[in-house]
Amino acid sequence: MRIYWLYVCDFGHAWHIERDDEIVPNFAEQICSKGHPAVTGSRHVAMDLVEIRFRPAGRVVNPKRPPGKQNAYEKDFHLVLTAVGGTEEVVSQQLYKWREVLALAERFQGRLVEECFRRMRESGL
Ligand SMILES: [Zn+2]
Repeated sequence: MRIYWLYVCDFGHAWHIERDDEIVPNFAEQICSKGHPAVTGSRHVAMDLVEIRFRPAGRVVNPKRPPGKQNAYEKDFHLVLTAVGGTEEVVSQQLYKWREVLALAERFQGRLVEECFRRMRESGL
């Protein structure tokens, strides 16, 4: 489980540390960037929200052709969905232009990982 530790020092500096819950907090993370020790620390469970990436689809299809005519799909992208820190990913089957992939990403932004994986697989996007 991914968690956030939120710390505040006596001088009002606030910072957060994100990591797996099984890792014990260490002394260094409890010092602000100005060198003050934390006076409060609170633990929060991270929501299981989807991570969204755009994978460029460009590829060299014929290296013997003149420059500028060797490549294909240079302006196309796959949409890639993952869990933060996870290894499983769901990749769109289709290619999208920049504006299209941005619009598609907005359909998944702020949603839970499992819901997004299911929607992407069922939709044939
Ligand atoms: Zn401080």
